[in-house]
Amino acid sequence: MGSTSGETPCCHIIALPYPGRGHINPMMNLCKLLVSKCSNLNITFIVTEEWFGFIKSTPKPLTITFQTIPNVIPSELIRASIFPEFVKAVYTKMEAPVEELLDQLQLPKVSAIIADTYLPWAVAVGNRRNIPVVSLWTMSPSVYSVFYHFDLLIQNQHFPVDNLAERGDEVVDYIPGISPTRLTDLPTFYSGTGNQVLDKVLEAFICIRKAQCVMFTSFYELERQVIDSLSTIFAFPVYSVGPLIPHNTLDSTPDANLDYFKWLNSQPAKSVLYVSLGSFLSVSREQMDEIIEGIRESGVKYLWVARGDTARIQEACGEMGLVVPWCDQLKVLCHSSVGGFWTHCGWNSTLEGVYAGVPMLTFPIFWDQIPDSKLIVDDWKVGMKVRDVGKEKLVGKKEISAIIQRFMSLDGYESKQMRRNVSELKETCAQALSEGGSSEANLDAFISKYLK
Ligand code: UDP
Repeated sequence: MGSTSGETPCCHIIALPYPGRGHINPMMNLCKLLVSKCSNLNITFIVTEEWFGFIKSTPKPLTITFQTIPNVIPSELIRASIFPEFVKAVYTKMEAPVEELLDQLQLPKVSAIIADTYLPWAVAVGNRRNIPVVSLWTMSPSVYSVFYHFDLLIQNQHFPVDNLAERGDEVVDYIPGISPTRLTDLPTFYSGTGNQVLDKVLEAFICIRKAQCVMFTSFYELERQVIDSLSTIFAFPVYSVGPLIPHNTLDSTPDANLDYFKWLNSQPAKSVLYVSLGSFLSVSREQMDEIIEGIRESGVKYLWVARGDTARIQEACGEMGLVVPWCDQLKVLCHSSVGGFWTHCGWNSTLEGVYAGVPMLTFPIFWDQIPDSKLIVDDWKVGMKVRDVGKEKLVGKKEISAIIQRFMSLDGYESKQMRRNVSELKETCAQALSEGGSSEANLDAFISKYLK
């Protein structure tokens, strides 16, 4: 397992996650994995005050210490999801407080800074201090390749595009490692406000060239072509170490005192549709009403994790299921009564669906969720689309109810094929994570290079 003896001098890592659930979770899981493998390792995990409030009670080893910096933007704006302003603040307001904190802490023997790729200034922080920077990309390597090769889109007149409604079916077949993709299936960098965000992201992909290595939360076998292609292009090593599942997450049985686990325990195998529209963005009220009606009409059992709207959804959606404000998603997905996952296709959720071997019903909303939906449905063939992003805006309840029934069927031809594929992918994922598997070997290689 690569543990080191107590006599080895301690080393230190600084973890700098982007302030968002889908970024903090994999960073924390990576840190837990690293300390479980290196007995001499201490980690300083730096988050904004607001995020510290959310995560301070997360169980973690004593060798991981939280440190905080001030919030980058008033918290009401974060909650209102004023995305471009938030991104701008993350890019411009975090660097100085992090520098100040590091000066105060005077940490001895820092072996590496592991920083989210969306914090481009972290590369400069590390370079100034002569500390290697590991750029952790918490989205799909396929999406990484799109941003990394953005100039190819411009050269091929696929960016900017004003009339995406007309040109959406044009095929992009020149991004290294990516299967042919319609313009509509690329991340949402075409929308008006998205462009400010895009400029910042492209800046990050320039800074990244000065990092010492890149770490992906994917696993090699899942995106072999794109990982191979990026590995030949980069001047630095690439480690694919995912999915980042903490060792102890699944050892413990689900807490039978929690109502939703009690309820899941009483349901037949593979009968429940687990529904999550993500922790950050949501759909319009009108679309939400159609989804609620569609799920009710489908007659399928459901467990729905919904922020805010819990009571309204429960009342409208009826007795066939349960609505909760939050759940332990990974354990829910691994529960034997869960037979399908309605997902917004956040990358962590996508990997968790693969890990648990649960077929996915995709309803992407924004950014990388759109290409993730394509990977799930078209490339891996382990899911169905509730809507084709390029075609229509609002999906009606009748369509929703029909696709849910087709998707949850245990004996339809299409659904059986999908279930077979996802079981195979689950097996491949388990092998990647097992001793000697690709993800385990990549993590060990990283440890040998940076932490010994
Ligand atoms: N999550 C969870 N419980 C919930 C909803 C979400 O544990 O009720 C976790 C989920 O398992 C995943 C993360 O929150 O690890 C969400 O990340 P993802 O990249 O899927 O989506 P985002 O919310 O960042 O769009």
